[in-house]
Formats: sequence, structure tokens, C-alpha cells
Amino acid sequence: MPQTSELCEKEEPPSSLCGILEAEEEPPGSLRASALLHHPLSFPAPTILPFPLHRRKIALKDARTRQFRRKFFPGISAREWNDWHWQVANRIRTPERLRSMLTLSAEEEQALTQDGIKLPFAVTPYYLSLIPAEGPQHPLRRAVVPTIGELHKRQGEEDDPLGEESQSPVHGLVHRYPDRVLFLVHDFCSTYCRYCTRSRVVGHGSLNANQIRLEQAIQYISKTPTIRDVLLSGGDPLLLSDNKLEWLLARLRLIPHVEVIRIGTKIPAVLPQRVTPKLVRMLRRYHPLWMSLHFMHPDECTPETTRACAMLADAGIPLGSQTVLLKGINDDVDTMKQLMHGLMKMRVRPYYLYQCDPITGSSHFRTSVAKGLEIIQGLRGHTSGYAVPNYVIDAPGGGGKIPLLPESVLGRNGDDLLLRNYEQRCFRYPDIM
Ligand code: SF4
Repeated sequence: MPQTSELCEKEEPPSSLCGILEAEEEPPGSLRASALLHHPLSFPAPTILPFPLHRRKIALKDARTRQFRRKFFPGISAREWNDWHWQVANRIRTPERLRSMLTLSAEEEQALTQDGIKLPFAVTPYYLSLIPAEGPQHPLRRAVVPTIGELHKRQGEEDDPLGEESQSPVHGLVHRYPDRVLFLVHDFCSTYCRYCTRSRVVGHGSLNANQIRLEQAIQYISKTPTIRDVLLSGGDPLLLSDNKLEWLLARLRLIPHVEVIRIGTKIPAVLPQRVTPKLVRMLRRYHPLWMSLHFMHPDECTPETTRACAMLADAGIPLGSQTVLLKGINDDVDTMKQLMHGLMKMRVRPYYLYQCDPITGSSHFRTSVAKGLEIIQGLRGHTSGYAVPNYVIDAPGGGGKIPLLPESVLGRNGDDLLLRNYEQRCFRYPDIM
């Protein structure tokens, strides 16, 4: 039975990597390396590691994940476990199955068995393996297992707080900013985040990746020359098959005014097995291609995720992160700093920290804006600037992202925070005190 480390090592033997490094170290016509080595002022020859750090990390045994696999999926080999199709087919989707793996709290039981919660429940076996069986307050567990908090609607909460439906010229295409569009390719995710901004859509089967709908969106982009940047999102675009995703990327690349394509995805965190050598070889044909990766806690920075990010970064894809500020999950300076440092080590640039959108049933996740500013203050100056994300509110009603800097906050009206956006227009955010 092959182990994960054996499978990974076979993908790129250390010797081939060393060969590339040696060839690049001495370009034709340069001063010979051997002459440098014997120069009296030359530095000692560096110790060459057998293979890069991230590859050595994968070789470490992830005891908890292996134990989980053997306990709940006996007979399943490491090869099957590392097949993303297997992971998707074996997602945990029912209260019975979840109950056999975690000790559920009364709030979780009620949420899983009672009608009224719109967002479906599903978690990949891989992601569930990162969550201990006990402790409903575990940060990863709170993010993916529903609780009755989702049934409580507070004032100011909406199913579509960002007004995406009203800014969709074509079903599944949001055109908010003049030069870019958000293209929702489908509504399927491998793991559903309980705080998802698009919980009104995702997992409901209303946004299919059928060719007619995708063609309509492509036609709109084609006929709108101001659009230079297309962000593919959903649902998770990386859950399309390689062929379908390539078809879509190829169609977009044929549009002369589309300069940049971006993919928004949570795959490296919840289903890193999806990042295969074949997928990466395909993606690199469509540069300039960027990725926005969704992370929310340092426990998501596992060896598997590190490997997935390394493969994407090695393919020349710039990686940025998006993090939602979540009460009791990442709303303290230490956790946020650990996450940002973990991302940087995986070559992911911390990009956005989002104030949680006021979607229906989100109050148990939302913090005050003051808490977010306190975290940014705790990062700024205390770590490298690259590790400090832009803290933003996506303005309710479709006003776009507004940076949370002192000059953006105009004041208060009751519980509402009054904000100024990039067009100098004012918006209200229902804050929590
Ligand atoms: S992965 Fe993204 S689209 Fe899917 S449920 Fe999570 S936040 Fe929503």
C-alpha cells in the first residue's frame, strides 16, 4: 500500500531538481564556478538540501489524518484517499454520518435535523480529519458544521447583502466595477462554509456549468470592451473537470480585451488533492492567471495544503489569500498573525481580510469593526508588511470593497456604521457592539 510520501516523491525526483539548479548556476560565458570556489575570498560552498523544505514537510507523517482514515474508511488506501474524486464522492453530508465521527452538541444536532437552514451541509473527509471528535468550539468545526445560530436573523441581514443579483446583467455574472466581472461558474463546493456570502446560491443547483449559460456570460464579456479582468468563482471553479475548466479558460483567452483571469477557490484548504500535476500543467497555459485562495485559520496550513500551494506557485501562478474575520475562530491578533505567517510560508500573499458580510443568520460569526481594526493594528509594524492584509468591508447594497482605515469611517447612526466608498458615496453597515 503506497504512502502519501512515496506518491509525492515519485512526482518529482530530487535528482531532477538538483540537475536544473546546477545547470542554472553556471550560465555560458560566465566566470567559471570552479574558479570562484578556489578564490581566496570565496564563501564556503553551500550545503545543498536533498530536496526543498516544502517537500520534506510532506514526508512527515500526518498521524491524525492517517488515524482518521483507518478508523472511518477502513480498507481505503492512501492512493484512494489522495484521489480528489474519491474525496468528493465520500463527502460527509448527513447527520448520521457526522454523528458517527464527531460528538455533536445540542445546537449542532438541532441545526442538522431541523428545517430552515438554507446552506447545505458537506465536508470532505480530508477536512474533517483535521477536526477533533470532541469540542464544538474548535475553529475549523465552527466554520463547517451548522448550529442553530444560522436560524437567527438580525436586523440588517440579507440573503444577498452585496446586491449581486441586481448587478448581474447575465445569470451568474456580476458586473460591479467597470473593468472587471465576477463569473460564477457553478454553485458546487466540496465543503460548505457556514458564513458563505453566497449561501443563497451555493449548493442549490440553480447555477449549472452548462454550456448555454457559460456561453451567455462569455458573450457578455466579449461585447464589453471595458472588462479587462475576469474572476472565476462560484461555487468552486476548481471542481470543474480539467477539460471543462480548460474550455472556459481557452474561450476567455480568445477575447482580446481580457488581460487577466483570476480564480477564487478554497480548494487548497479543503481539498488539496484536487491540485494535481495535470491540472497545474493545464493552468499554466493560460497566463496571466492569478489565484485568490480562501483561508481562515492557521490549522488549514497542513503539509497537503503546503504541497498544493507549492505546485501552483511553481507554475508561476501568483497566489493571494482572502480571509473572513470570524468571531471565536480568528478574531485575535495571535491567531491572525499565525495564519498570515503560515500563508507566507506557503508562498501565499495575505491579500484581503473581510469583515463578515451580514448574510442572514451570520450574527454568531460577526465581530465588531473595532475588533478588526484592533487586529490590523496588532499586525501593522509587528510583522512584515507583506503579512498584513487589506481589511475591507464589502459594502452592503453593492458599493464595492471599502478599506477600513480611519478616514473611511464617517461615524455612526444608531447601530449602523456610516462608511465612504471608492466613489465617495456613503453606505451603512449594521455593526455588532
Ligand atoms: S468555498 Fe467559497 S463559495 Fe464555497 S461555501 Fe465556502 S465561501 Fe462559499
